[in-house]
Amino acid sequence: MKRIIAAALLAVAAQAPLQAAEQAPGFYRATLGDFKVTALSDGVAQRDVTTILSDAETARKELRANHLHDTLPLSINVYLVDTGKQRVLVDTGAGELFGASSGHLLANLAAAGYKPEQIDAVLLTHIHGDHSGGLSIGGKRLFPNALVYVDRREVAHWMNQPAPKATVGPYADAGRINYLPESGEVLPGISARPVPGHTPGHTAYLVESKGHRMLFWGDTVHVAEVQLAHPAITIAYDSEQPQAAAERRKLFEEAAASGVLVASPHFSFPGMGHLRKDGDAFRWVPVAYNDQVTELAP
Ligand SMILES: [Zn+2]
Repeated sequence: MKRIIAAALLAVAAQAPLQAAEQAPGFYRATLGDFKVTALSDGVAQRDVTTILSDAETARKELRANHLHDTLPLSINVYLVDTGKQRVLVDTGAGELFGASSGHLLANLAAAGYKPEQIDAVLLTHIHGDHSGGLSIGGKRLFPNALVYVDRREVAHWMNQPAPKATVGPYADAGRINYLPESGEVLPGISARPVPGHTPGHTAYLVESKGHRMLFWGDTVHVAEVQLAHPAITIAYDSEQPQAAAERRKLFEEAAASGVLVASPHFSFPGMGHLRKDGDAFRWVPVAYNDQVTELAP
């Protein structure tokens, strides 16, 4: 009898489809007070980070200690904040910038149950291609009903270059760019804070509902395994290196002291967690996976 069952199981297995070559849909949801926050994967950027971090030797040492090669997949995470009244994207990923390894935002948005037309606002942390590249394809706005919020200095700095022209440009042409206030509330429950250094108008967003707070800090940091232990190490993409390092340490200190939830676009998906101080260094405490959509922090 056992042998017959085993044979039947083998026959079923033989008819089963081949193993999937891809991962499961890349979204992860949690509640934040009355809001819902969904991390959406746009993919990864494979980078030999020892060639772009300011201290290759220390970087290599930390990578080995963390069981990583010099080249690692830096996640590209996008975040959707659904306030119940508005659906707000924080950044848009890289679009077509990195070929097949990026541009998964729309598929993952659909998997999470949203249509691009439902996006009311896009908050850009800055205009680098891996954050604004997903705004448009072929000159067409992918989020036709969205207003784009961005620091005025970002637009002044980048908009004469071809890539931003092609992706942010269509929103400018349609009169859909809103400049951020110098600081303070951008949308109900969402405030902006300049964090210059990575780029001239680099911005962090603090989202708050019913006392629950989450900080979307953009490219304050890129490589968790190196820069948390050594916040002074900069990356080639930081336009003002000493300022970027100073702002990074300031935000690290604040986040560790306040215990605010952090969303970090290049940390391993979903890039949501807390910072812990560890001597003079910091540690990333990723949120615990939960199959239920719940609050991430007490
Ligand atoms: Zn980036």
